[in-house]
Amino acid sequence: MAEYKTPVLIIGSGPAGYTAGIYAARAGLRPIIVSGEQVGGQLTITNLVENFPGFPEPVLGAKLMSDMRKQAENVGARIIDDKIVEIDFKARPFECSSERHNLFAGDTLIIATGAAARWLGLENETKYRGFGVSVCATCDGFFFKDKNVAVIGGGNTAAEEALFLSNYASFVTIVHRRDSLRADKALRDKIKKNRKIAVEWDSVVEDIIGTDKPLGVTGIKIKNVKTDKMKTLHVSGVFIAIGHQPNTEIFKGHVDLDEQGYIVTRHDSTHTSVPGIFAAGDVQNARFRQAVVAAGSGCMAAMEAESYLLEKKLED
Ligand code: NDP
Repeated sequence: MAEYKTPVLIIGSGPAGYTAGIYAARAGLRPIIVSGEQVGGQLTITNLVENFPGFPEPVLGAKLMSDMRKQAENVGARIIDDKIVEIDFKARPFECSSERHNLFAGDTLIIATGAAARWLGLENETKYRGFGVSVCATCDGFFFKDKNVAVIGGGNTAAEEALFLSNYASFVTIVHRRDSLRADKALRDKIKKNRKIAVEWDSVVEDIIGTDKPLGVTGIKIKNVKTDKMKTLHVSGVFIAIGHQPNTEIFKGHVDLDEQGYIVTRHDSTHTSVPGIFAAGDVQNARFRQAVVAAGSGCMAAMEAESYLLEKKLED
């Protein structure tokens, strides 16, 4: 057990957390980043990243995140691989205890705990993750140029992913467990008109199939829930779009959340409902969910934490 104290305590180690760490460290605020369970965040489970500026060649998600970590450390951020499990929101500084029984005190908190994509729970989904199975068409769609792909889900994300993928793929099949999409009418209309998209209604994915050498998806087995009929779709990519879950469990009841559980921040700002607590990245942004957007808001959070600390100092 150890005790740590810092002006800026950052919870989470995705692009938002590391960028907040880089900015806070360069501002001389000696930040501490508590990494959380998935060190490096969601990018560590994608394969290649081609849309993060500054990398002329595709970079492995895991490599991008380990470089971001090194950069944060090089400029003076301290990173502790541990998970915050409880926060005393009334205490000043904020007091946090961790899974490994460490205690952290932060004059400000930057919440950058991200969101997690929902998965179907199939065994092969894990096996082929990053090798045909993806939860982000914007990130991985380009790798499926002129190939057949499937999108699972019936909401706005599934509809947008299918439309996006139709720009690259030769054909997109949406697999949806009901007989209608819950996506907005405008998106439904676009899908109807798009000749490269078809929907398998009332269908669920029973299995993902593929090869071992090279590791890759070759198809999915789907079942019609009304007729019990099985069918194989020959696809190279499967995009799971069945929703996301923000990682906000420990903030419930203390920091304002919206109806989907995302942290509410002030317009054009990372300020939460609690003075001194800021939120950055996917945990406060259900819309864009992009690493570069998360990094940008991490920078905003560090700058706003710095201003907050300065104002506090002037008040005292
Ligand atoms: P949603 O929760 O809206 O939709 C999830 C979809 O996945 C539903 O169709 C659901 O089916 C299906 N689903 C859930 N679990 C399973 C499962 N285990 N197996 C098969 N299918 C499953 O999530 P989205 O990510 O689409 O959207 C999240 C929020 O973000 C929404 O409020 C959405 O409107 C918003 N958003 C807005 C956009 C925009 O405005 N352009 C773009 C993207 C998202 P069922 O319908 O049967 O429940």
